[in-house]
Amino acid sequence: MANKDYYSILGVDKNASEDEIKSAYRRLAKKYHPDLNKTEEAANKFKEINEAYEVLGDPNKRANYDQFGSAEGNPFGAGGSSGGFGDFFGGNGGFSDIFSDIFSAFGGGARTGGRTLQKGEDIEISMNLTFEEACFGVEKNITIGKIEKCSQCNGTGAKNGREFTTCTNCQGTGRVRYQQNTMFGTTIRESVCPKCEGTGKIVKEKCDVCSGKGYKRVQKTVKVKIPAGIDNGQTLRMRGEGNAPLRDGINGDLNIHISVASHNILTRRENDLFLDLYLPFTTMLLGGKVDVPTLNGNYSLNIPELTPSGTVMRLKGKGVKLLNKDKYGDLLVTLKAECPKSLNKQTKEMLQNLANNYTENDYVKYSNYLKKMKK
Ligand SMILES: [Zn+2]
Ligand SMILES: [Zn+2]
Repeated sequence: MANKDYYSILGVDKNASEDEIKSAYRRLAKKYHPDLNKTEEAANKFKEINEAYEVLGDPNKRANYDQFGSAEGNPFGAGGSSGGFGDFFGGNGGFSDIFSDIFSAFGGGARTGGRTLQKGEDIEISMNLTFEEACFGVEKNITIGKIEKCSQCNGTGAKNGREFTTCTNCQGTGRVRYQQNTMFGTTIRESVCPKCEGTGKIVKEKCDVCSGKGYKRVQKTVKVKIPAGIDNGQTLRMRGEGNAPLRDGINGDLNIHISVASHNILTRRENDLFLDLYLPFTTMLLGGKVDVPTLNGNYSLNIPELTPSGTVMRLKGKGVKLLNKDKYGDLLVTLKAECPKSLNKQTKEMLQNLANNYTENDYVKYSNYLKKMKK
């Protein structure tokens, strides 16, 4: 979504006070209110005004918007990936934690004891894997741009993490209640304290590492362990490896969207591999051996005599490892008889002789078919 200029939508200056924004919103909302206007243009305008006020009317969202151009404040968005490896998961949350999260939906903010912790933005990146990397797993280092809590001030924005006082506007709670008069009546609303931006603290002297912001943007190389068996279209979620929140709270996640290249011969469906194998019709009749590719090198497949076309041979355990399990799928080879490109006089005679050697009763399915047709 392209960023909209919420300030120009409300017709206010970037330095407009909260009151100025509020009154601009009220004036425009009345002007374009659907009750007074029936045009689609006015309806769209009304929607746009509300969207702008939802952001600029909230000091936190406005701060994010000012800084990052969006209310959610994701400064980096989707980044590129680069090669590399290692144990991705760092100190907290290990392997199993990550794996159980692979398919879970992206979460919102975490709640503890009725208080909503702010969650940093998730970081979304895409990663391309070869067919084999997905089957066997792989480790890669990726470099991402992200927001990290400033370690110098421990995210407080105050020099040495100490130079602050309790906010007098909210008595340190970080939240304020106020009465709002709207055209629909009076409501009591609670919101983040605009003075301390919800921290409950006022910085006396700013941290000189982060200039008082409490966080910093960094380029970070993360070691990612891709589990064997991951499939195209799946997302590997690394909890807590996303952006730090702009105030107290928990880190967002790093979501790695996986694309897997196809194999030049085999087709993968879930954990099974499939191969449509055309063989000379004579091999199907006489039997023989043929090499088929597997993930662990070629396998010499024995074709029995008189193998009907369409026979599926299942090579147990020669498929792809199941995610996070010590189990493997199968390789299913469908054998199909192929006719030669052409016949010459001699081969035609040979085949005619061959045909003459059999009656329809030598063909079980064919003769059954003929019997049914005669009824
Ligand atoms: Zn700092
Ligand atoms: Zn406050």
